[in-house]
Amino acid sequence: MSQPMGGKTSPNQERTQSNLEEWKIGKRQKTKDSTRFDDRSINQIKIASQIYMDIMVVGRWGCHDLDLSSLRSTPGLVNTKNNCYINALIQVMFGMRCIRQLFLGRDCFLELKISSHKDFLSYLKMGGTIALNLHTLFEDMTLGTSGLSVNNFKETLVTHNDEFKRYDNDLQHDTHELLSIIFDSLSMTFEKYHSENVFRKWFHSSLCGTINCLTCKHSSTNDSDQSFIVEIAIENDDLKSCIESHLKEVALEDYTCQQCKTSGNSRRSCKMTTSPILIILLKRFGVSGKKITKKVTFPFYGLVLNKDSKYDLGAIVSHSGRDLSHGHYFTFQRIGCSWLNFNDATVSEVNFECERTLSNAQRDAYILVYCVREKFEELITKKDEVSYHKFQEK
Ligand SMILES: [Zn+2]
Repeated sequence: MSQPMGGKTSPNQERTQSNLEEWKIGKRQKTKDSTRFDDRSINQIKIASQIYMDIMVVGRWGCHDLDLSSLRSTPGLVNTKNNCYINALIQVMFGMRCIRQLFLGRDCFLELKISSHKDFLSYLKMGGTIALNLHTLFEDMTLGTSGLSVNNFKETLVTHNDEFKRYDNDLQHDTHELLSIIFDSLSMTFEKYHSENVFRKWFHSSLCGTINCLTCKHSSTNDSDQSFIVEIAIENDDLKSCIESHLKEVALEDYTCQQCKTSGNSRRSCKMTTSPILIILLKRFGVSGKKITKKVTFPFYGLVLNKDSKYDLGAIVSHSGRDLSHGHYFTFQRIGCSWLNFNDATVSEVNFECERTLSNAQRDAYILVYCVREKFEELITKKDEVSYHKFQEK
């Protein structure tokens, strides 16, 4: 594939820009005229494909790189159709510097391993639609587009990707489940179409179980439990103890050692290995959907998982309400040195030194995003990053 070219705008580049605009307009009109939804989505694929072919020919996409430095206002997201579970997820993704830069920039689209139009359609079908839509949405968020919602984002996903069909309604859904599906899709897409799977590099964690026989000292290890989200049961009232319970050594009463055939004298221990960013799910919902409303305390700085690294908190996804289908999602995110609360269209600064604010956050915390200290500025937020509300005040 050709490299990005600098300098003057070529006719092809102008065409790319106008295709991109057309693609966006197409999406916006779609919501007003839902009866022609399918025709329009087919059209979008055609236009998106044309954009891609232009990238192949011209070597650059006619869009600009944007980051927080050009942010014009607070990027709240209005909630018109029970979409707080999507709003919360989008805010968490946008709030992470690594994801924001990945999709706002054009680089991740330039390096795609695609050699035909057919390839591009498969790319869209896999997770490319999510990537292109995140690009559009993040761009609108950065520009401070007023009245912005995730409705188009959701509709496009539901239309192009089978795994999102379950979201084709105005019901409340689980942010955790959506996060899993989006990260899995993007990871598969990056594995196949990009030079590096950054989702695996940044977010992957694995739980490695070792079984030790106390009779013959034989040990066997399995490394099967790998995911983007570490699910922790709420067995104690602080996160550290919950994680310790999760990893604690247990006696295996029914286990027979493969080597010496002794039964009931083996123990299993677990070791967690994580990527720089650790996403923890506090399992507040059981099979019945009934919620565990217990307060769980968690450190803002210095969560220790293994001897060498300390993790600092970057974001909290909270759930208030009695069960999965009747609650409300909102987030807290660290931007620079401030903590901001993103609650649909409302964005406000919060002070966790206030006992009540902290106590509520501990009661409602559902997903916690930690990042290893050495990588925090690179992947989550820089200390000197000016928070969103400060742009709004200007
Ligand atoms: Zn043994």
